[in-house]
Amino acid sequence: MQLLKGKEAAEAIKQQLTSQIQVLKEKKLRLPHLVAVLIGNNGASETYVASKIKNCGEIGFESSLIRYDENIAESELLNKIFELNNNKNIDGILVQLPLPKHIDEQKLINAISPEKDVDGFHPVNLGKLVQGSPAFISATPYGIILLMQHYKISAKGKHAVVIGRSNIVGRPISILLSSNQPYGNATVTLCHSHTPNLKELSLQADIIVAALGKPGFVTADMVKKGAVVIDVGITRIEDATAKKGFRIKGDVSFDEVAPKTSYITPVPGGVGLMTIAALLKNTMKAYLMRSNLNEDIFNK
Ligand code: NAD
Repeated sequence: MQLLKGKEAAEAIKQQLTSQIQVLKEKKLRLPHLVAVLIGNNGASETYVASKIKNCGEIGFESSLIRYDENIAESELLNKIFELNNNKNIDGILVQLPLPKHIDEQKLINAISPEKDVDGFHPVNLGKLVQGSPAFISATPYGIILLMQHYKISAKGKHAVVIGRSNIVGRPISILLSSNQPYGNATVTLCHSHTPNLKELSLQADIIVAALGKPGFVTADMVKKGAVVIDVGITRIEDATAKKGFRIKGDVSFDEVAPKTSYITPVPGGVGLMTIAALLKNTMKAYLMRSNLNEDIFNK
């Protein structure tokens, strides 16, 4: 069993981006700028956004955090998004989910300019993803692909079972793994809450992606020997003995599943860190596209 260390793979990506920023600085060009919009005081969202902003600083991106009270009117938020869309110095816009109930999530996502949609949630980017056209791939599925590439794990010809069909994780990763791309060409089974024979299917899987948000759901009896197991789940479990008062648990019962696998992601320290690395890569891509540049600029 080998651990798929998100920290190691994310660090490699961050190093590459840091040296790219150096080139932009030497050429006295504007730097990529990511804006995060945070609404309310959700503890997990605060942590995620803080981490995204911190990572921007570490690699030399510009970043801004715009905070709103949870009672903010939807119209005010939409106006802010339009303003950010029109701001020439901003390359990426992310609105941290989940949103308060009175705000229509899809309406807000649809308002973000597809060229600045570094989270890859806009229908234009999702549509391009399905087409196999270049697009911003949503950060978590993209991070999973980057993690597999880092460890040279090929999906070609494999049977992948994805558990969970959300628009931000399960569905896009199922599309990516089944697509005719260097990182794809797997046969994919997409399971969800109405799948009756999940264990029968997961036992056939060469690759399991668990993204359902049920801690410890995938147990050893559901996993074939030698399978690759990617655990996307992040659930906070109260724990008075932990410094922060909670622990993070994934969707896989790690201790019993790990010995059966060829590769497995830890939680924390796996997919979560890759999500941020993928977001940074998307922001650089948005910057290059918006500046009419391409990666050649870094090779000269
Ligand atoms: P979601 O709640 O939107 O979707 C969950 C999916 O799981 C649904 O499609 C549902 O049909 C399916 N499901 C629920 N119970 C099931 C069952 N018993 N059997 C089979 N399928 C079942 O969740 P999401 O937004 O995709 O997130 C999933 C998990 O991934 C959560 O723990 C979330 O915190 C985590 N997450 C992690 C990252 C990261 O960066 N690591 C990013 C996004 C989400």
